[in-house]
Amino acid sequence: MKVLVVEDEPKVAGALKEGLEAEGYDVTLAHTGEEGFFHVSTHAFDLIILDIMLPGRDGIEVLRALRQQGLKLPVLLLTAKDAVEDRVLGLDAGADDYLVKPFAFAELSARIRALLRRNKVDSENVIKVGDLEIDLVRRSVTRDCRRVELTAREFELLEYLVQNRGRVVTREMLARDVWKETARATPLDNVIDVHIARLRKKIDDPSDQKLLHTIRGVGFMLHEEQS
Ligand code: CA
Repeated sequence: MKVLVVEDEPKVAGALKEGLEAEGYDVTLAHTGEEGFFHVSTHAFDLIILDIMLPGRDGIEVLRALRQQGLKLPVLLLTAKDAVEDRVLGLDAGADDYLVKPFAFAELSARIRALLRRNKVDSENVIKVGDLEIDLVRRSVTRDCRRVELTAREFELLEYLVQNRGRVVTREMLARDVWKETARATPLDNVIDVHIARLRKKIDDPSDQKLLHTIRGVGFMLHEEQS
C-alpha cells in the first residue's frame, strides 16, 4: 500500500514515515502542497495523509484542488487542536476523515486501515464501461469524470444495462426486470424507447464515444466501441 504524507514539520513527517513503514506501508514524503501535487501526478497512491498547516497553499486548498482534478483516493487530514472550522472546511473539501494533533500513532494506524477497507468496498461497487462510471451504492453516475443526473427510472435502466454490458438486452427483458410489468395489455415498447432516448442523451451526447447502442430489431447493448 502506497501512502503519501504531506507535512512540512520534519519531526512529525519523519515519525509518520518511520511508523508507517514499520507497518509495511510504502511511504512518500512531501513537505509542501506543490510537492504533494507533483507526487500525485506521477505516482499512484492508495491514501494521502495531508496536514492542514502547510507553507503556501494550506492542506484544505490542496485537497480542494486535488478533488477538482478528479482524485478519488481516501484523504486523511491532520488538523490542529480546537480548529473546528478547519475540520468542517476539510470535510466539505472532500476529506474522508481527520485526526487532531497530537494523536497516538495507534489511532492514526487504525483510521488508515478503516479508510483503506472502505475504499476497497467502494471500488467493488463501481462499474466502469469506458469512461462511464456507475456507483451502485451511492447511485451516482459520471461520464468522463462529469456527474450525470438521472431520474430513478433512468438509473435503474442504466444499472440493468451495465450489469448486462456486452450482451443484448431486449425490450421484453426491460419490461420484465426494470419496469416489472409483464401482464400489460399493451407493450411498454414506446415507454422504454423514450427512456432509452433520454438516457442516451444524458450519457452519450456529451461524448464522442457512444456506449449505448441500438441493435436493430432486437434491443440495446451497452458496450465500448472497438476502434
Ligand atoms: Ca504542518
